[in-house]
Amino acid sequence: MFDLRVLGSGSAGNAMLIQSDSTALLVDAGLSAKQLTTRLQQCGVHPSALSGLLLTHEHSDHAAGLRIFCAKYEIPCYCNPLTAEALKVALVDVPRRLFTNGTEFTIGDIEIRPFSVPHDAADPLGFCLAHDGVFFGILTDLGHATRLVLESLRGIHGLFIETNYDETLLQLDSKRPWSVKQRILSRHGHLSNTGAAQVVRQLLDSSPLNQVILGHLSKDCNRPELAIRQMRQEFDTAGRSSTKVCCATQEVISEKILIQ
Ligand SMILES: [Zn+2]
Ligand SMILES: [Zn+2]
Repeated sequence: MFDLRVLGSGSAGNAMLIQSDSTALLVDAGLSAKQLTTRLQQCGVHPSALSGLLLTHEHSDHAAGLRIFCAKYEIPCYCNPLTAEALKVALVDVPRRLFTNGTEFTIGDIEIRPFSVPHDAADPLGFCLAHDGVFFGILTDLGHATRLVLESLRGIHGLFIETNYDETLLQLDSKRPWSVKQRILSRHGHLSNTGAAQVVRQLLDSSPLNQVILGHLSKDCNRPELAIRQMRQEFDTAGRSSTKVCCATQEVISEKILIQ
């Protein structure tokens, strides 16, 4: 079983706390070090209790707080070599543990399988975490799901997945220039509500998936109720109505979510 608290998720910063029986991990550090500390403490966890920070990619909404936070509390940053290279300065005072995509490793009692995802960063990743026979997938910042992504997530019990935008709201948005919209929509951009629902549809047959957490919603181009409705529909249509769907937000720490 995993205990999950999403500390914050959205275009302005992403971080989540994952705990097993004896290990606490942070996945991404896109909030300020101060916010990370405060929000962890609100979850009853002191930063020094973390065994590590697991990093999906170097974009600032995932890494902004890394340098100060990890250096201050001496928390090792687990990332792949190209992400470390892209972060250079931010990792100067931070203990780092490099791993290879596709090769499993462990932090405490959690097994971690990192796999490549298509996104416009140096070497972006998704993760499948395992503890005591329970599997949890983390899939954020990707333009589409490749066969490798789907293979890597076979058998998951829980999934955090990006639902970045609603297609109609993105088309109607007047703040973003066309070039930015194209970037978001591209195969190396972000997943829409529809895109995420399609990914989940392809995982249903091979997985006992019973809990889905939606995240990384665009402030202007999505709304939790739209994202939830579309995902909910996917499970209802498949006769899997017992699957729980919730949505993480930027401002408020999520309830404790059990992955089992
Ligand atoms: Zn990104
Ligand atoms: Zn992001």
